[in-house]
Amino acid sequence: MELWYTEKQTNNLGMTCLVQETLCNFKTEFQQLAVLETAQFGKMLVLDGTVQTTERDEFVYHEMIAHIAMQAHPNPKKVLVVGGGDGGTIREVLKYAAVESATLVEIDEAVIEASKKFLPKISCALSDPRVNVLVADGIGHVKLSPGKYDVILVDSTDPVGPAIGLFAEEFYADIFKALKKDGMLVAQTESPFFNCELIENVYARIGRIFPLTKLYLASIPTYPSGLWSFTVGSKCYEPENCRQEPVNTKYYNFAVHRGAFCLPNFVKELVGEKGK
Ligand code: SAM
Repeated sequence: MELWYTEKQTNNLGMTCLVQETLCNFKTEFQQLAVLETAQFGKMLVLDGTVQTTERDEFVYHEMIAHIAMQAHPNPKKVLVVGGGDGGTIREVLKYAAVESATLVEIDEAVIEASKKFLPKISCALSDPRVNVLVADGIGHVKLSPGKYDVILVDSTDPVGPAIGLFAEEFYADIFKALKKDGMLVAQTESPFFNCELIENVYARIGRIFPLTKLYLASIPTYPSGLWSFTVGSKCYEPENCRQEPVNTKYYNFAVHRGAFCLPNFVKELVGEKGK
């Protein structure tokens, strides 16, 4: 008998994968957590029926959420990752010698533990001495950290449950305060095909707080529609520029850095750049 897992990506569309083994499937304090061994994507972390990361395509998301800000900021010493309990974003951040400390604030300890157990290539950097792992709500942590960080990366789940507040204007205002005077924020902001309203709203919210707001894109096969967006808020540095510090990556390079900001017309419209 074959076992297939379907993620219902919209009310009318699903992505279905052949499952070779269910490695775990249980309810945590916050969500339903499963790790599946799939034929197509290797091990897959699923929270509340939504794919978070897979062994085969995780590099795109984790490199693209991390390296744009890490290369655009001239000296990213103190970095905060909100969410991201699988550790992939922290792994990318630690590729830079400038990083003195990388703090992970993940609300669900079970995500961290399951990633350490089943996804060691993604979670490998969580034991690095520069990493400070906090099991807490990112919203509260950001409120209590004024002027502390050079770069903040919001590696959140979709805006449901505890992640709803990670897309709120108040949270972005607290991030602005938690950043140093030249700090930079990057948030994952979902699919430009399926989450148009969210992208418009987040872009407007960040735009009301940060002097510079930009959206960029990357192709991620296991995320709904395969095209994913990230929104940057910057206090002064131009996000499209990169220091060109050599870094070992599979997706990111300096041409991809610049190209990621070249938006198709329908995405330009979402961020009010029609005709530019
Ligand atoms: N790459 C993923 C995606 O876009 O689907 C996100 C991966 S990461 C596993 C997302 C994490 O955010 C989850 O582990 C979840 O527990 C965490 N999270 C959700 N709300 C949070 C909050 N308020 N504070 C801290 N972490 C939160």
